[in-house]
Amino acid sequence: MPLYEYRCQQCKSGFTELRRISEMDTHIDCPECGSRQTQRSISSFAVGGASAGMPSVSAPSSSQFN
Ligand SMILES: [Zn+2]
Repeated sequence: MPLYEYRCQQCKSGFTELRRISEMDTHIDCPECGSRQTQRSISSFAVGGASAGMPSVSAPSSSQFN
């Protein structure tokens, strides 16, 4: 099971949980303050997805750099 990171909007503390992929967006209570104002944040698991609006091969060439 992948490890997901969550952040509490109430006490601003972050925590991690081992969850199934199908449960990654399921609600989870903050272990610190018990608030339900938690949000999943990007974890190291989310690697490999190219983000939109970021072309990888469009850097201006330095052909005029004489
Ligand atoms: Zn909290």
